[in-house]
This record gives sequence, C-alpha cells and structure tokens, in this order.
Amino acid sequence: MLKGIGASPGIVLGKALVIEETELVIERKVVTDCEAEVLKLRNAVQVSKEELTKVKEKALVELGEHEAEIFEAHLLVLEDPELVESAVSKINDEKVNAEYALNEIKEMFVSMFEAMDNEYMRERAADIKDVTNRVLRHILGVKVIDLADLAEEVILVAHDLTPSDTATMDKKKVLGFLTDIGGRTSHTAIMSRTLEVAAIVGLTNATKEIKDGDFVVFNGDTGEVVINPDEETIATYTKLKADFEEYKKALELLKGQASCTTDGRHVELAGNIGTPNDVEGLIKNDAEGVGLYRTEFLYMDRTDFPSEEEQYTAYKAVLEGMSGKPIVIRTLDIGGDKKLDYLPMDEEMNPFLGYRAIRLCLDRKEIFITQLRALYRASVHGKLRIMFPMISSLEELLQAKEVCEEVKAQLKAEGIAYSDDVEVGMMIEVPSAAVISDVLAKHVDFFSIGTNDLIQYTCAVDRMNQKISYLYNQFNPAVLRLIKMVIDNAHKEGKWAGMCGESAGDQLMIPILLGFGLDEFSMSPISILPARKLINSLRYEDMQNFSNEVLSLGTAEEIKAYVEKTFNK
Ligand code: PEP
Ligand code: MG
Repeated sequence: MLKGIGASPGIVLGKALVIEETELVIERKVVTDCEAEVLKLRNAVQVSKEELTKVKEKALVELGEHEAEIFEAHLLVLEDPELVESAVSKINDEKVNAEYALNEIKEMFVSMFEAMDNEYMRERAADIKDVTNRVLRHILGVKVIDLADLAEEVILVAHDLTPSDTATMDKKKVLGFLTDIGGRTSHTAIMSRTLEVAAIVGLTNATKEIKDGDFVVFNGDTGEVVINPDEETIATYTKLKADFEEYKKALELLKGQASCTTDGRHVELAGNIGTPNDVEGLIKNDAEGVGLYRTEFLYMDRTDFPSEEEQYTAYKAVLEGMSGKPIVIRTLDIGGDKKLDYLPMDEEMNPFLGYRAIRLCLDRKEIFITQLRALYRASVHGKLRIMFPMISSLEELLQAKEVCEEVKAQLKAEGIAYSDDVEVGMMIEVPSAAVISDVLAKHVDFFSIGTNDLIQYTCAVDRMNQKISYLYNQFNPAVLRLIKMVIDNAHKEGKWAGMCGESAGDQLMIPILLGFGLDEFSMSPISILPARKLINSLRYEDMQNFSNEVLSLGTAEEIKAYVEKTFNK
C-alpha cells in the first residue's frame, strides 16, 4: 500500500502502465560535417513544431483555450532564436554533434530560469525542458509511449506527467494517474481536476513500487493506493466505486437548484478564481457568483503593472461571463509570499506581517487608483462587489473608501459611466479586524472571512511552514469564536458575511459555518456541488444548536472529532 496526496477524486481499479523516464543519453562528439548536424537539429525542431501544433489544436478542442496556451508557449520556445540559433552556433563554433549542442543550451537556460526569484519564471524552466527533450528525442530517434494511442484502459504511473502528456492522452483509455512528485496545486494535480480524471500525486516511489501490468486500486480522495490487492480489497473498492458513481450522478442533479437547508435557509455558493479563464469552471459547477477574484495574478508574470485598460478588460470579462451574478473582486493583495519582479521591496524579517496588500496600496496610491478606476468602469457590466484585503484597522478601511470616492469623482468629472450599485466590503483575515468587527461593520456592505490568513495570524502559525503545520488548524476554538463574532457583528448592522478562505468549501466546516449564520460560502469550483448537496441535507436550526455545542469545546481535536462523529465522516 502507498499513500500520497489525493489530487482529484474518484475510485479506480485497473492495470498499471508505468511510464519509465527514458534517460536521454547525450554524448559529446566532435564532428567534421557541421552542416549535417545543423540540418539534423533543424529537422528535429521542424517535426517537433508540427507535433506541437497538432497537440495544441487537440487541446484547444478538448480542454479549452487556457490549457492550449501552454503549447503555444512551447512553440514560442522553439521559435525563439536564442535557443535554436545558439545551438547552431555551438555546433559550428565547437564542431560538436547536434544533441550535445542543444542539450548544453537547454541546461544553460534551465538553470537560468530555475535560479529566478519569480515562481512563474521557475515554472518556465519545466517548459523549456519539456520542449527541448522532445527535440532531443527526435534527434536521437528515441521512441516514447504514445499516450494518444493506447491499446487498453490503463492507470498511468509516472514520475510526473508533462503538459503534453496530459493534453495528448486518450481520455477514454486513461482511468487515472499516479505520480511520484507534485502537490495539490502542481500542474498534474490541477490538470487531473480539469479533466475530471482521478489522481494521486506525491507518492514518492510509485514508479519503483508499481510494476508495469500490476493490478492497482486507488482512492483519489484519500490518496491511498493498493498494489495487487486481495479479493476483499477489490470488493471494497468495487463497492466504493459504485457509491462514487452514484454520488456524482446525484451531484449533476443539483445543478440549477438552490442551496437551501431543509428548513428554508438560503445561502450563496460562490467560487474563487484567479483569472477570467476560470469562469468556465464556475459555470460548469453552477456557481452562484464569484466570492473571491484574486486580482494579483493580473499583476504577476510580467515586467510592468497592468494598465487600466487591461484591467478593465479582465474585470469586464468576469462580470459579463457570469451574466449578472454577483462578483467580489479583491483589490491587489501583493506582498507576503507574492512578489512582483518590477516592484522592488526591501527585505523583510516577516513578509506576512509586512508591507503588503492594502498597506502597499494606500502607500502607493497611484497603483490603487488605476485598479479602482478599472473596477468602477467595469461596474456597468454586471454586479460588482469591491473588497479590500488585509484591513487591520478602521483608519485603513476609511482611507481605502476615501480613495474609492476620489476615483468616482474623477470618473464623474471625465464623464465616464460607473454603477451606483457597487457594494464595498473587506476581508476579515487579521484578528484585530475581527475583534473590532462591530465598528467596521458600520462602514462596509459586507465582510468576507479569509481563514487562510486568519488562522495563521490568530494562532501565530506561518501557513507555509511544514514543521509547525500541526498547529495550523481551522477547528481551533479561538478561530471559530472569531468567525462567529464577525458574522454576528455583520448581522447586527444588517450586513452580510461570507467566507472565501479554504474552510468555506470544507465538508466538516460547512455545518459549523452554516450554524453560525454564514451567508455566503466561496470555494474552488469543484467543491460547489458537494457543498450544495450537504447544505440541502441539513436543518439550519439543528446546525445552530450544533455549532453552539462546538463552541463549548476546548480543543481543535475535540471539535474535529465531534464533527466527524456527528456527520459520520
Ligand atoms: C485568505 O487569507 O483566507 C484568503 C482567501 O486570501 P489568500 O489565500 O489569497 O491569502
Ligand atoms: Mg489572505
């Protein structure tokens, strides 16, 4: 038995196809006919380009524009003279063979990109590797398993899967993936959820422990894999699979339905997004709105700030894409672990407690004003809700609201239209804001609780630090009391309270939050229908009593165990 990180749910039983990493053996050879080597290289590049164009077209039809972009990026790598022409020069200058020259240039670029500060640029190193290895295989004549043409249904077992693997594979034949590396947000994991193929990542030794042709069963939820299971295990998994299919069918039936408890309390189930492309997934999962659009992604992976026009286009796309449903757009939340290459910042001892989010925006007002202008201009295209991140005091909230007024006055003077119906709210992710939420509630239209940060600040636990992750717990009674207090304070002022931290989509947290009176839950699109299913089965009055009992317990462990026991999880 192996245990990894459940990346995409599903129960799978089938035969393993282990994809061996074919080590590309690259030797340095001195050649006399440089022209022949250059020709070899150019031919291999050409064949690779043709392949990639086909892959891109297939991805475009089967996966959509966003996923196809990666192959466009691969094609651009091959079209970049820096890469191919540098290899040609190396062949001519050093009189070496094509594969050696290309491999050397590849290594140089990869180490350059891997050393960069920016995560996006580091990921580009993987693209360069993927695409140059394709060319190298053509030069060397190395055959690879063609995932587009599989003879039978299989479970793919690999060290990792490349974007070209996931895009070209025959989805009808691939029952699931198991990989050695990766986390919940790695490319393979995200792809498996987009494709709705069950997957487990981060298994460490899957390619060593599983042999080609082994019979394997796995659970994409729990991350458990059993290799060559006994009859009893097979029977258990067969039953689990049938239950899962039933569950999926039941979820489909929930599309178009309200999210409402058995005694008639309606809540809003919204989705969290990072780019306008994510709207597709929201519609597919029947989101009732967007509860968090993290606009910082618009600012990342580039060399300068996005213009007002560019931002306006993105915000308009989301507002229109969701056809009038409410959209919470969060203003820039940069700093902490999210840095911009073009915005140099001083080294900080505690970046999460540092110059970030609203603090930065109030200091660099020109950045904030550009974003707010784009937001108000886009407001005529749908139902916009603006939200400020990291507010820790009333002063900050009032200052941020003042900038909104300034921007509206500017637009008015310029004769540019904006909606008068824009709600303005703030995230509650800093304990000081939760504590004075009675005061803050008077000045906002809504609160959205960011548990991801609220947990780390309340418990003084760095959310990125593996070593102390046992202390980072959403069931911590201090966190739960703050959440309850924030919701009550919002309601006292007649305002609504939502949540956009990961806890909002958590099946064990939902009953508690519902009982606390949370009005809006915003989560990853894939969690929306399961959340609706759960909410539709609960009675609000019972959950109020239940959540009161939860608040009387003293430890996170007790609370979690109590929820699990009550809901049979
Ligand atoms: C949060 O802190 O809960 C939140 C939703 O914001 P982020 O994860 O972007 O910090
Ligand atoms: Mg946050």
